[in-house]
Amino acid sequence: MNKTALAFMAHPDDAEFLCAGTLARLKEAGWAIHIASATAGDCGTMTDDRWQISAIRTREARQAAGLIGATYHCLGESDLMVVYDKPTLRKSLDLFRQIAPGLVFTHAPKDYMMDHEMVSLLARAASFGYAAPNASALPRLEGSGVPYLYYCDPIEGIDPLGHEARPTSYVDVSGQSDLKLRMLASHASQRQWLAAHHGMDEYLEAMKRHDAARGTEAGIAAAEAFGQHRGHAYPHDDLLASLLPIK
Ligand SMILES: [Zn+2]
Repeated sequence: MNKTALAFMAHPDDAEFLCAGTLARLKEAGWAIHIASATAGDCGTMTDDRWQISAIRTREARQAAGLIGATYHCLGESDLMVVYDKPTLRKSLDLFRQIAPGLVFTHAPKDYMMDHEMVSLLARAASFGYAAPNASALPRLEGSGVPYLYYCDPIEGIDPLGHEARPTSYVDVSGQSDLKLRMLASHASQRQWLAAHHGMDEYLEAMKRHDAARGTEAGIAAAEAFGQHRGHAYPHDDLLASLLPIK
């Protein structure tokens, strides 16, 4: 089977919040791991200009990915400006074509901000199409095909109308809690900004709270939750449940 996983997210720290524990477990199981963000996080600052903060956040994202031996990619889009259009879809198809993922994680289709929803659409479309020979000018790698596609939780587990997301799949990340915290803490610029804003280490606390709440639902200490895309042409069986069953 194709043991290459890609987390395609909007911003440089989204994968760390939403699926890094699962990526770490897949890495342990021998998978190649790629993390991609649409933007370099150019609006994640109160003081730097967009080029300074993009450079800082690219370094932080690469460092975080390095903690699980993952390769980091960035599409070079701008925060708040990610759209589903032909140029961005072409970039997404080319990204997928270079990686040839057999398993893809992305944002929930309905989430708190539009960059997340647009990347969710781009990931869905690129998953469906990247293996078609004429979908990209880049060479078609062996193993290319419609991958398993999982949507991560929306932020705080709720859609924009406040409805709770209903996961299809849970992954036990109790053993990855420290690693996830170290990965997230690599995004020092964002952690400092939020700590100054909230007067507490909300950046790390929010992730711990969410993983614990999903863990309780699955009867374990900490979990990441996902909704599997099961539309026509996508693999329907729950790969995460068979690879990483809850014990
Ligand atoms: Zn984000």
